[in-house]
Amino acid sequence: MLLSRPSSTIVLIMHPRRKTRKVFVGSVPIGGDAPISIQSMTSTYTRDVDDTVRQIRELATAGCDIVRVAVPDQRDTKALPAIIEQSPVPIVADVHFHFERALEAIEAGVHKIRLNPGNIADRKSVDRVIAACRDRGVPIRVGVNEGSVVERGDKDVRAAQQQAMGGEADGLIQLMVDVLEQYLRIFDENNFHDVVLSAKSIDATLVIDAYRAVADRFDFPLHLGVTHAGPPETGRIRSIAALGSLMAMGIGDTIRISYAADPVVEVEDAKELLCSLGLRNRTEPELIACPTCGRIEIDLIRLVADVRRKLEGIKTPVKVAVMGCVVNGPGEAEGADVAVFAGKGRGVIYVQGEQQRSVSEDDMLDALYEETVAFAARVERGEVSLSNRTVTIAPPDPLPRSDGSIPLTVYKT
Ligand code: SF4
Repeated sequence: MLLSRPSSTIVLIMHPRRKTRKVFVGSVPIGGDAPISIQSMTSTYTRDVDDTVRQIRELATAGCDIVRVAVPDQRDTKALPAIIEQSPVPIVADVHFHFERALEAIEAGVHKIRLNPGNIADRKSVDRVIAACRDRGVPIRVGVNEGSVVERGDKDVRAAQQQAMGGEADGLIQLMVDVLEQYLRIFDENNFHDVVLSAKSIDATLVIDAYRAVADRFDFPLHLGVTHAGPPETGRIRSIAALGSLMAMGIGDTIRISYAADPVVEVEDAKELLCSLGLRNRTEPELIACPTCGRIEIDLIRLVADVRRKLEGIKTPVKVAVMGCVVNGPGEAEGADVAVFAGKGRGVIYVQGEQQRSVSEDDMLDALYEETVAFAARVERGEVSLSNRTVTIAPPDPLPRSDGSIPLTVYKT
């Protein structure tokens, strides 16, 4: 028996942003009312100034707001002044174990330090780094991750907490919060509060629970991330599940998606995630495309890839739809500013619901590009507004062939 579906309204509930303190990384604010910023990390040797600056510029062009560089060696901190001078975005120095690297990086003019007091041998050295950061107005990101809290010899504590709390995840999360609290006590004793916190894991559900617990406990801004997420093919889902869920709950002030890949991909995905959640305005075209089905009459997947490449460089957030047929495509492309409905041999191009052209398959890509550029120019001149979800595209009235397919050539150019 078929059950009728009750009519329903889908309401997207985005929680308001959690209120946090605000810190400044150079000119970029994190926390408070600041937009959620995107971070990434270079994969170059920092001591190679040209290579590192090249990658920082690529990341900035892709939409990265803050870039972190590793400084394992003095040769790396020596390169920092030249890198900072040429960088279009603030630079964070990633310090592990050697507090001298932190002092050298601060002296070099770095905009933020990522450091865990637990990785530094003695308290006096940590205090020196904090004092240097305070003198220069440099914030510090303090993080725990699942691996590090267990590696710190806290296995006994963890086991006891697991037992007390009746579950491994709960015990681990409590341990992560406790370790952060220990670190924060050191900062508090130094009267230093320009701190950003992170609590990472490779497990998406643990990341969600850990950040929720940290957000409940502290009012410092949070740097969200899933650590060691893997290649984009698998790490993408894990990262988006965790970071998207947290941001929908209003948690998170800056994000880094980390992949075993070119870091530009991290930034592209982070930007798309923020745009998809309405947390960042698009500045470039948004491409939507049908998933294809048995009605398809062209190589739509290749066409979508070609359109994506072709639209690169347009700096207006025009919504462009590439659809595989004229039967359902118009309904499915609802809200698009510019749309092509492709069929065997021809494509029909619409601009904000009005049919503009019917072109041969060979001309489809160029025609769609021309219409998109022309529409974007009209938007920039203030002659038209970008679409929203209320724009509808009335389907044409095609005459089906005897086999059910639609002869797109019925449309005149
Ligand atoms: S637009 Fe047409 S070809 Fe594409 S999925 Fe929908 S029905 Fe199938």
